[in-house]
Amino acid sequence: MARRHLIIGGGTAGMNAMRTIREEEREPSEITLVSAEKPYSRMVLPYYLDRSIAESHVFTTSAALLAQWKVKAHLGRRATALDVNANVCTLDDGTKVEYDDCLIATGSAAVRAPVPGADGRNVHSFWTLDECRGVIASITPGSHVVMVGAGFISFTILNSILALGAKLTIVEVAPRILPRMVDDAGAEIVEGWLKAHGVAIRTNVKATKIEDAKGKKRLKFASGADLACDVVIMATGIKTNLDWLKGAGVQINRGIVVNDRLRSNVANVYAAGDVAEGRDLVSGQPALHAIEPTAQEHGRVVGANMAGKDIAYKGSLIINIVEVCHLDAASFGAWDDAKAEAVSGLKRDRAAYRKLLFTGDRLTGAIIIGRSGDVWTTNDVGMLKGLVQTGVRLGRFKDHLKTHPFDVKTAYIASGTTGALLPETVLGRPSKAPGETPVAV
Ligand SMILES: Cc1cc2nc3c(=O)[nH]c(=O)nc-3n(C[C@H](O)[C@H](O)[C@H](O)COP(=O)(O)OP(=O)(O)OC[C@H]3O[C@@H](n4cnc5c(N)ncnc54)[C@H](O)[C@@H]3O)c2cc1C
Repeated sequence: MARRHLIIGGGTAGMNAMRTIREEEREPSEITLVSAEKPYSRMVLPYYLDRSIAESHVFTTSAALLAQWKVKAHLGRRATALDVNANVCTLDDGTKVEYDDCLIATGSAAVRAPVPGADGRNVHSFWTLDECRGVIASITPGSHVVMVGAGFISFTILNSILALGAKLTIVEVAPRILPRMVDDAGAEIVEGWLKAHGVAIRTNVKATKIEDAKGKKRLKFASGADLACDVVIMATGIKTNLDWLKGAGVQINRGIVVNDRLRSNVANVYAAGDVAEGRDLVSGQPALHAIEPTAQEHGRVVGANMAGKDIAYKGSLIINIVEVCHLDAASFGAWDDAKAEAVSGLKRDRAAYRKLLFTGDRLTGAIIIGRSGDVWTTNDVGMLKGLVQTGVRLGRFKDHLKTHPFDVKTAYIASGTTGALLPETVLGRPSKAPGETPVAV
């Protein structure tokens, strides 16, 4: 069994792996953590942005906890090379760390569209804590903020920007907002809702330049009027943090190619989270999911396998959920599968929309939009996720859903989805609470 574990990256995947090793191991092992940033949760940054939480609450561990878990930490240090023959990782200060097995969990970084001026003053990305601090320092009540890109990340920070008293304009190169999360009909509802709540939106516009203009910023577009503002946030995509690994002999496609144990082509090198191209639960195909639940589950499976267990991973479900101005929008699984049998329902007066996608008599994808205050929206988000996640056979309740797409509950109960979900675990056992084990997982 591996005695010396190396974890590269202290985000969600790395931290879950570390905790699970301590949870599952029979005998104490050495764990070394190398992380460019002090471990924190990127997902909670929107709440720090609008000051719902203090900065101290974004961190997921502390020096004292790491010491208690007997983890040797190199924080603020980057891995720069991996020698998979000698089992040695080199850090940016020249330190060499030897390992018996290693996890690569270096996550993603924001990418700015290649627009002249995109690196200028008061132009920000929003992916890291440092970038979040930059945005906080720039926005004051009354600031006009332009977000370039109308994807998931823009939508996770939209409420916070409004809560800071800023005026918001979103510009998007695609013909509609949320192009990788909902379909045309769904996007139209969300766009209408946001406009009614004072958010300006311009789709089909390609930013060509960001200039400084008398203390303000001015965006120029391939067509249409210029836009003057105080702050620009470029939410134009992300890329995996894997440049440092190129040439090491670890197979990289869109991410690190892993098997169902989350092992790479190098037997003692694992990958997890945003950098791992693992199995998609619905399609069964390799996929890169830059989402929290995947990072968490990957981390737990890798941690158990590093601790000597043999845990196979079923695959991860793509889950997109955002709430903007009290409107929920979510999609699950193969929500854009052109081959699936699809049915949709719309209650325009309630801004409520459902699209259900079936393969045979299973629900394999879903889109749901509705007011957060409508109890059936909240309930249906969970039930649709459960139906897609379990892939239960719907039998005659498929027809019921097709004719009544807003009555999810009947099909959910009749198909026994709760019964199928209850025994589901990632590690083949229930989670444990703090106190039962050295750490809670
Ligand atoms: C603002 C925001 C909101 C989000 N909201 C949601 C949400 O609502 N739902 C959802 O599912 N997902 C959300 N996400 C995405 C989610 O946070 C990520 O998918 C998740 O953090 C991925 O975890 P990870 O462990 O793979 O990588 P990360 O959490 O990115 O951690 C990677 C770690 O590796 C370190 N690192 C990078 N390079 C090196 C190197 N060379 N050497 C050493 N260390 C390195 C980094 O410093 C970091 O600590 C959000 C992300 C952001 C930015």
